[in-house]
Amino acid sequence: MSVIENIKKRFPDIENVEIRAVISMAGIDNIKRSWQAKNEDIPDIIPCGNSKCNLGGFDAFSMIWDAIKNNKTKGSENCLGEESIARINTRSCAQTIDYEIIIKKKD
Ligand SMILES: [Zn+2]
Repeated sequence: MSVIENIKKRFPDIENVEIRAVISMAGIDNIKRSWQAKNEDIPDIIPCGNSKCNLGGFDAFSMIWDAIKNNKTKGSENCLGEESIARINTRSCAQTIDYEIIIKKKD
């Protein structure tokens, strides 16, 4: 089930969900990229964009859930993944998302 199907099943009065975000590397202001998706295009995990990151990204469902249940329509999250820096060493991925959730309910 896609994220949007899951949300609409739980909250039938929701018509559209859109995520607008800027993904950046913490501490490096010049590496920023815009990311956005709407409805069926919203993935389970928004990719963090760091090619060295393992199991990373940002959980779109929990962001949308927070927006609906807790009215938290803007926020920041750190990437869930870890970056390999040597064969046996890892560190938390430094990618961060600043996001806004736009919810449209049915009339
Ligand atoms: Zn990452």
